[in-house]
Amino acid sequence: MSVTEQLRDVPEPDSGDPDTRSPMLVGLLDGTVLPASTPLIRPDDAGIARGDGIFESTLVVDGQVRDLPQHLARLARSARMTDLVLPEADAWTPAVDALVAAWTGGGEMVIRLVVTRGPEQGGPTCYVTAAELPASSARQRTSGVRVLLLDRGISGSAVATSPWLLAGAKTLSYAVNMAALRYAAANDADDVIFVGSDGAVLEGPTSTVVIAKDRTLLTPPLEGVLDGITVVRLIRAAQTAGWATAYRRMTPDDLAAADGVWLASSARLLAPVRSIDAVERTDGGLTRELLTLLEAP
Ligand code: PLP
Repeated sequence: MSVTEQLRDVPEPDSGDPDTRSPMLVGLLDGTVLPASTPLIRPDDAGIARGDGIFESTLVVDGQVRDLPQHLARLARSARMTDLVLPEADAWTPAVDALVAAWTGGGEMVIRLVVTRGPEQGGPTCYVTAAELPASSARQRTSGVRVLLLDRGISGSAVATSPWLLAGAKTLSYAVNMAALRYAAANDADDVIFVGSDGAVLEGPTSTVVIAKDRTLLTPPLEGVLDGITVVRLIRAAQTAGWATAYRRMTPDDLAAADGVWLASSARLLAPVRSIDAVERTDGGLTRELLTLLEAP
């Protein structure tokens, strides 16, 4: 069998979650939509060979893309930090619009804008994928997650002062983040909160940590963590609703003493933490209120 025939035989991918049903699609910047099983990336693309590239993911609810300008702005920031030259922000519009129009799956779709550094002789590779939101992600908005605290091996401030560590850039080098999630799954947990070597709470592998204490919403300072778009949206809506909010350094003791702890991210939106290192905790009865502030479906 030739390589091309083998590639054609690759089954339609899903998000890795067995409850995802609709086939994934890929959109090219000229607006062409293809099945995600279409061969697209050269084997010598630095995105494959070195995990060298950047991405953004966001949720599309009933055809409406959430926070697209914010994601395009962060993609541009990630590009500057990684010396990647991006197409103009509106170059993504044909791909995004075509995927939204072509989507026949469920009401919640996740789009992912991907930029790799490309092959050695050539420019970046850009495309967008569209996949059904895994049912487990939607479920976790209410059922919550069991979390392990894992050592990130370096402090947030050390990462922040070492630009080559790309703190705050959303890069394709997520193998460590995915390994942390597999470690959690192998140890009777669903998710992870990273703690820095100085004992400060950082972020999840794919999420921002938010806690509530006495009607104040708190999230760790932007030192060595991604500048989360969901948490900013939550903070703005919470302020309008009368909450106090702050970026504040916190430790695992602060998590234990909080009224509620959540993981915020663009696709899952919000997941209440229902245990930390196997110690059960409550959400203070606040999850529904925060999901409403986030205009969760
Ligand atoms: N931190 C990391 C490492 C992430 O990968 C993500 C999500 O992609 C977040 C935080 C949450 O960011 P956002 O709310 O912009 O999705």
